[in-house]
Amino acid sequence: MAYTIDLSGKTAVITGSNSGIGLGIARELAQAGADIVLNSFTDDSADHELASGIAEEFGVSARYIQADMSKPDQCRRLIEDAGRCDILVNNAGIQHVAPIPEFPVEKWDAIIAINLSSAFHTTAVALPIMRKAGWGRVINISSAHGLTASPFKAAYIAAKHGIVGLTKTTALETAKEDITCNAICPGYVLTPIVEKQIPDTMKEYGMSREDVIEQVMLTRQPSREFATVEQMGGTATFLCSPAAAQITGTTISVDGGWTAL
Ligand code: NAD
Repeated sequence: MAYTIDLSGKTAVITGSNSGIGLGIARELAQAGADIVLNSFTDDSADHELASGIAEEFGVSARYIQADMSKPDQCRRLIEDAGRCDILVNNAGIQHVAPIPEFPVEKWDAIIAINLSSAFHTTAVALPIMRKAGWGRVINISSAHGLTASPFKAAYIAAKHGIVGLTKTTALETAKEDITCNAICPGYVLTPIVEKQIPDTMKEYGMSREDVIEQVMLTRQPSREFATVEQMGGTATFLCSPAAAQITGTTISVDGGWTAL
């Protein structure tokens, strides 16, 4: 079987893609020829410049659409405004770390809304568009924490396990069509969401930055290396390739062996 990944003519909408994994996935999909819709809740000139930079670098069409993924109507508007949506990557996510009795209710609500419910809303609008086009790929960014747990991350872990369930259901509802839905489960990737956890963990354990990385974060990751945003992008691109057409309703771990332990 010829192994080609040519996504020209497809439009990819990636939620939460003005930094980190979302931006990495957008760049890899653009490299494979897909037109790109970037998103976040901000509306700065830097956001729009990211899109024009991708357009120029990869010779695709790219634009930025502001929409707050904590708001159901804005999740739905993002897909409507995109017009086409052949590839939907539900990536937007936030984190908060606290023991359950002290976990702020508003943080719980925000994490469930952004990390889980947004994917339901975008998928609900995207599926009819994909059906009309006769092809679609939904890629949900879960986590190693969608398959395992750690203390103090109750909302994040509940949302990431939830997204695995939503992935399976979406796959079953589209199984007879040329539409697939899968979840990528990254281990630790050194992006802003992880950077923000380092100072708190340093304080909590009285450790240096290097010790937090080596002795707290990467102890779960047998490779003892961070995964990269390019690897997430490459995995997403593979899921859009002909070789992956029968892969649906499953999780792909990119975690240096975390979930093998
Ligand atoms: P990041 O902080 O760089 O990216 C998060 C993105 O979500 C940003 O673009 C941010 O602007 C966007 N976002 C946040 N709130 C939003 C909102 N209300 N509306 C729209 N966009 C919003 O972190 P990241 O590591 O790139 O995270 C991306 C995804 O990968 C998240 O779902 C995260 O849970 C998941 N993940 C990350 C890791 C890791 O180690 N970095 C591991 C497993 C899973």
